[in-house]
Amino acid sequence: MKTIGLLGGMSWQSTVSYYQAINQGVNEQLGGLHSAKIILNSVDFAEIEKLQHAGLWNETADILSEAAKSLQHAGADFLMICTNTMHKVASEIDSCIDIPVLHIADATASKLVADNITKVGLLGTRFTMAQDFYKKRLTDNFAIDVVVPCESDQTIVHDIIYNELCNGHIIDSSRGQYVQIINKLFKQGAQAVILGCTEIALLVKEGDTTVPLYDTTAIHAHSAVQYALKG
Ligand code: GLU
Repeated sequence: MKTIGLLGGMSWQSTVSYYQAINQGVNEQLGGLHSAKIILNSVDFAEIEKLQHAGLWNETADILSEAAKSLQHAGADFLMICTNTMHKVASEIDSCIDIPVLHIADATASKLVADNITKVGLLGTRFTMAQDFYKKRLTDNFAIDVVVPCESDQTIVHDIIYNELCNGHIIDSSRGQYVQIINKLFKQGAQAVILGCTEIALLVKEGDTTVPLYDTTAIHAHSAVQYALKG
């Protein structure tokens, strides 16, 4: 079994989900008392969030690259960046280390392709919804069309992530707002919706809507299990 390097803390609420899902996945496959070999480097999200909102992405890349190097030196065989948004600087992080990085958008897109989804809605932080680094990867590398919420709905989705979910606040009225936005994306032709922020599944679950949901945390964690256990 390979040792998984988790670059977490963005936010720590969803790093908990990764830790749990990866251990459960390994245990399902190996049984008994088996659990995953994990090294975690959990950053202070307040520092990252401040730089994100100031547009200082190179500085975020510097912090995360140092954290990634420490995971490699500690013995991680591959790296998981446990956030969609910070994949904006995935190539900068990748270039500082020799171990592979399992990209969250690639794992998600592979599942969409396997399920014959060609047009998908995307929820995430405003950075993920509005900028190209995530959407373009889905379109260019996997031929998947991406629909995002309108400007005002993006604000709702973004603010709930930072003000509530990253603080562990799960609020029913916010779930209602998310479900309405998901339904709008479906009406715009999306066959499914990507929960493209690792905290969203803490709020919205399968069964809250009839629209198929792709939880990036679960998908990314599953890809880590498969990669860790493959021969
Ligand atoms: N965890 C979130 C994501 O998947 C948002 C926090 C962050 O900006 O990293 O995008």
